[in-house]
Amino acid sequence: AKGRWDSIRGAGTRDEHPRTIFDEILARRIPSDKVYEDDLCYAFRDINPVAPTHILLIPKQRDGLIGLGAATAEHEAILGHLMVTAAAIAKKEGLNDFRLVTNSGPGACQSVSHLHLHILGGRQLSWPPG
Ligand code: C5P
Repeated sequence: AKGRWDSIRGAGTRDEHPRTIFDEILARRIPSDKVYEDDLCYAFRDINPVAPTHILLIPKQRDGLIGLGAATAEHEAILGHLMVTAAAIAKKEGLNDFRLVTNSGPGACQSVSHLHLHILGGRQLSWPPG
């Protein structure tokens, strides 16, 4: 059955997992500093940046992608789109060098159960990450 969320522009997780704060952001119920948007994905500046440029890129339809660990062959198209879009966003932000991070699971410090790519840049990044 179509619920309230399905009628809100940009929102809709289409899976059985609990909705997250990113659905609120996609529905514009919580404001965000939008960087990029298309039919499939949405990018906004992280509220707690850990680098001069820190952007989160998320699929509009979560479709079970609570984290990258849940990825299956069905997700190949959206995952490819996210990667290509991340590179385009980095370029538009003027980042020659950048890092793309996705934390999968609590042991990797994932805090929101909706796949998101962190685009980080604007300073010298260290390796290995913490
Ligand atoms: O990888 P992880 O799940 O920890 O990343 C979640 C990110 O979402 C954090 O960097 C956090 O600052 C960001 N966030 C945000 N706006 C919110 C809630 C979380 O930018 N309203």
